[in-house]
Amino acid sequence: MNNLIVMKFGGSSVANTEKIINVANRVTEKARKNHIVVVVSAPGDMTDDLIDRAKSITESPDPREMDMLLATGEIQSIALLSMAIKSKGFDAISLTGPQAGIHANNVHTKAKIRKIRPKKILEELKKNKIVIVAGFQGLNSNDDFATLGRGGSDLTAVALAAALKAKECEIYTDVKGVYTTDPRLISEAKKLDKISYDEMLELAGVGSQVMMSRSIEVAKKYNVNIHVRSTFSNEKGTIITKEVSQMEDVVVSGVAFDKNESKVSITDVPDRPGIAANIFGALSGKNINVDMIIQSAAREKYNDISFTVSKNDLKNAVSILKNISNKLNAGPVIYDENVAKVSIVGIGMRSHPGVAAKMFKIFSDEDINIQMISTSEIKISCIISSKDTDRAVKILHKKFGLG
Ligand code: ADP
Ligand code: ASP
Ligand code: MG
Repeated sequence: MNNLIVMKFGGSSVANTEKIINVANRVTEKARKNHIVVVVSAPGDMTDDLIDRAKSITESPDPREMDMLLATGEIQSIALLSMAIKSKGFDAISLTGPQAGIHANNVHTKAKIRKIRPKKILEELKKNKIVIVAGFQGLNSNDDFATLGRGGSDLTAVALAAALKAKECEIYTDVKGVYTTDPRLISEAKKLDKISYDEMLELAGVGSQVMMSRSIEVAKKYNVNIHVRSTFSNEKGTIITKEVSQMEDVVVSGVAFDKNESKVSITDVPDRPGIAANIFGALSGKNINVDMIIQSAAREKYNDISFTVSKNDLKNAVSILKNISNKLNAGPVIYDENVAKVSIVGIGMRSHPGVAAKMFKIFSDEDINIQMISTSEIKISCIISSKDTDRAVKILHKKFGLG
């Protein structure tokens, strides 16, 4: 649709009445000249609170019921925002994910969007209404709510922008854009004017929660220009877009960290074909995402396999591994929750050698021990002890000249 903008507001932007009214003001300002689809998250920490609530009732809540519960957070936001917009004399309508035509697969709490049928959204836009869609939720093939994974409202916004051919997707949040590192941790962090999809994808993938990584995959695929900016100021934020050549001049664009990782090892595994497929097949069968993997060199036909999973998946991963270990007659399963992943990202790494060596030297000078390493063309990640995280991020940010 012509002249359409998708505006997404995160939880901190709609945390209370005053903030909802602020969002209503920002939306109606734009609505004078554009068609607007708004995507909102649950207010404040509501999603965390609902998860805690469910866990206070049972340690492993039923996934379908969990999604039913979590979906209520975003539904409160759409209804309240619609009331606020209407009371300013504009016409608006709130839609749940299912009403908005967002179809998801059947993996509760981590569902993927299968397709979008925006019929109702388009009908309402044609009536000149501001359409307010609940983020983070869709309808699965059993006609149940399915949520899209933490941070999933970003995905809703970008996917809607693609499906509706919006001219821009604006992500309004509590910081002024994408920074060289988390501005809440490092006060010297600098706002970036522009960042490529690939860099943002890597940064998001290694823990910069400002954008959900799956939303960037969709943006790249469908060429959606994203503008990350502050809900509380009119300043220009950061444009996430296609790579342009001068972006390569900067070796490292950002430093990220993820304190939500844990390390698991299965020891003394027989060294023969099919073992890794067996282990990682079992984990993926339970929808557990594995991140870094290290297999030690075989000694006497046995080796150790270590990998990282998110802390939420640790318990399940350990129980799956213990089973496999019993079946294979392997050694003990050990794990460590006190680890963090620290990463540097930049498309300039492709053309500048020695970046990894420099990172390792910085850690060595700081007496920070590296437990695991993984790299991609434009990223280097290290697993270190969680107590060293803040120090590691600060020193990398400084030594790579980002401050
Ligand atoms: P929202 O509720 O709007 O979705 P999030 O909490 O998901 O907001 O994301 C915004 C937060 O991301 C910021 O408050 C900031 O602390 C964090 N963050 C982490 N890394 C970065 C980064 N490189 N640039 C900007 N923000 C970052
Ligand atoms: N409310 C959901 C969450 O906290 C989705 C989102 O905020 O994007 O993860
Ligand atoms: Mg978010």
